[in-house]
Amino acid sequence: MNKTIDDNYPEISVRLLKWYDHNRRNLPWRALPGEKSNPYYVLLSEIMLQQTIVATVIPYFLKFIKKWPTINHLAQANFSAISNEWSGLGYYRRAKNLHETAKIISVKYNGCIPDNTSELLTFPGIGNYTAAAITAIAFNSYENVVDGNIERIFSRLYRIENPLELSKDRIKKLAAKHVPNKRNGDYAQALMDLGSKVCISKTPRCKQCPLIFACQVAEKEEASEYPKRLPKKIKNTRYGLFFCLFDDQNSLLFTTNKDKGLLSNMDMIPSKGWYESENRLESSPLNISKKLSFLGLEWRVLPNEVIHTFTHFKLHCTIAYYKIKDKRGIEQLNLDFPFRFVKQIDFKHLALPTLMKKIIKSVNDSKI
Ligand code: SF4
Repeated sequence: MNKTIDDNYPEISVRLLKWYDHNRRNLPWRALPGEKSNPYYVLLSEIMLQQTIVATVIPYFLKFIKKWPTINHLAQANFSAISNEWSGLGYYRRAKNLHETAKIISVKYNGCIPDNTSELLTFPGIGNYTAAAITAIAFNSYENVVDGNIERIFSRLYRIENPLELSKDRIKKLAAKHVPNKRNGDYAQALMDLGSKVCISKTPRCKQCPLIFACQVAEKEEASEYPKRLPKKIKNTRYGLFFCLFDDQNSLLFTTNKDKGLLSNMDMIPSKGWYESENRLESSPLNISKKLSFLGLEWRVLPNEVIHTFTHFKLHCTIAYYKIKDKRGIEQLNLDFPFRFVKQIDFKHLALPTLMKKIIKSVNDSKI
């Protein structure tokens, strides 16, 4: 009689750990074999890795630990310096949460990261997955760590026909059966590495897989169809109008977004329409009406649109341009938002989201 996966619980973790010993990725936040993990490195990397791939995170992680080598250093930093270094990594709320978490750990826990999920879950920006990953990797605790890559592995191992959106709980329970009683940090990282190097999304490399002996779709053409998904929803489209106001020295007008939501605390080019629910633009504002205009100036609309994709919507950006001869008039206006002109050479000191960088590049490429 053929063995089922459930006959092979111990073998799955044993074979996976053996594979990991020879195939583990060298990542800057990972302890070398036989060494203890640095909990700060683990926490920092896990927050950076939320919704971001490893290759993108590595240079940011290295920059952060050079500048703030311990959680106490990070707690004492100015948030503007943190958001500046975070610029380009996206999902800026994480930077704020990271700083708040660092401050709590520094003050309340004397700089020691708690080794249990119940305390970690009370910190801003730390959910079930991140808490489980930190405790498993940093403290070798018994945890069932399941992210998107690990869901993919188990949905293939067990050939789960239900769409992932409806089978997450089942996958978590199945994954829990295989968590070993020792080397928990290594086991979690072995699954992560398997998902990233072997059981990859498009074409799984089954011949290199230590779990091929138990996998229900191993070397089958349909393996890449797992996990099954519900039909995709089409992303909403929004439209925004961005006002690039230059002075005679080519400095650009910026404001800082004090809203709590998207791109909070980032440096922004003033804009209209796209993220306020009232006044949301329904289509591209090619001709700027009086209502949409800004500071009473005669703006010139640039021909090229910039398109930027956020998690829940796609933003079409129209760029309005104006070069002012004498900015004193603007500086004397009693505007209801903070603003300042910034020289191009100083843009590197700003906390600029990728969207702003794209808009600035588009203006520079327009050769006005
Ligand atoms: S055998 Fe192939 S499909 Fe199955 S877990 Fe391994 S890589 Fe993924």
